[in-house]
Amino acid sequence: MTAIYHRVALIGLGLIAGSLSLAIRRGGLAQEVVGTARSSESRAIAREIGLCDQICETALEAVAGADLVVLCVPVGAMGAVMAEIAPGLKPGATVCDVGSVKRAVFNAVLPHLPQDVHFVGCHPMAGTEHSGPKSGFAELFDNRWCLIVPPEDADAQVVSQLSKFWQQIGANTTEMTPDHHDLVCAVVSHAPHLIAYTMVGVADDLGRVTDSEVINYSAAGFRDFTRIAASDPTMWRDVFLNNRDATLEILGRFTEELFALQRAVRQGDGEHLYNYFNRTREIRRGILEAGQDTQAPDFGRSGAKS
Ligand code: NAP
Repeated sequence: MTAIYHRVALIGLGLIAGSLSLAIRRGGLAQEVVGTARSSESRAIAREIGLCDQICETALEAVAGADLVVLCVPVGAMGAVMAEIAPGLKPGATVCDVGSVKRAVFNAVLPHLPQDVHFVGCHPMAGTEHSGPKSGFAELFDNRWCLIVPPEDADAQVVSQLSKFWQQIGANTTEMTPDHHDLVCAVVSHAPHLIAYTMVGVADDLGRVTDSEVINYSAAGFRDFTRIAASDPTMWRDVFLNNRDATLEILGRFTEELFALQRAVRQGDGEHLYNYFNRTREIRRGILEAGQDTQAPDFGRSGAKS
């Protein structure tokens, strides 16, 4: 494959940036990948494992001469990072983010964007519960979706080049507006995470079930909740602070459905329960058919999750 960008700068060196660097190198998609992280500890680890061609001390140093800059920090930090790098961006460069929320990131980032620099939102729908510079792997984005979210006045050529870049990284791409993105992600990712956090919290609070029982018998469904609930607390705090409306909308619907199921359980309404579970099973089948998970009894846990 030929390099799509000359110099790519990764700001933040966690799971997503690390996986991006490895996938870019795997595909020869850039001549040079440089990166930086907030802490000297993360920068030192990244240097030690050779995560990028060069690890810079500051974000300003990293973006110098870069034709693609990828913001790989928590959603709540995007605005401050954009303000910091703005004076050092190369005219004509493209900046994208990988944040899990889009409207709030647009609001935080766009006011700092220099006139001659492009910005396009991106959200790879792939991740694991691990974080930090050692957690990345080149295959993370393979056959996953990357949602491309261009601002209204985006340059079509810039968006097309960036989409091609994500496709060569291994992802499928599709475009959507920031508000639609935030609603879709509230359904498929944000509300499920909040529910998982709650379920694990409830089990933890339940004095009548011992810790060892929770841990030893967790394979019966609970284990998947614990994996999701082990996700990075900073990242997920920022997701809920920045996608409040869509998450609350979905949680409202969730609560109504939960009450309906609760009533069916109380009233012994087997037909309601059976029909409901049949419907949800079809959704699982659809996910498997689309190649977005595996039949393996570990639910593909060793690989990526959406
Ligand atoms: P991560 O592994 O925790 O890495 C986050 C990076 O951001 C670290 O290098 C960290 O620096 C840096 N950082 C944290 N707070 C910062 C701040 N206030 N200012 C500047 N830098 C800061 O996170 P990740 O999983 O790669 O997530 C990065 C982005 O991708 C997030 O916006 C997240 O919403 C999005 N995303 C995540 C997933 C997922 O499943 N993990 C999936 C799709 C999208 P230090 O190491 O120095 O602390």
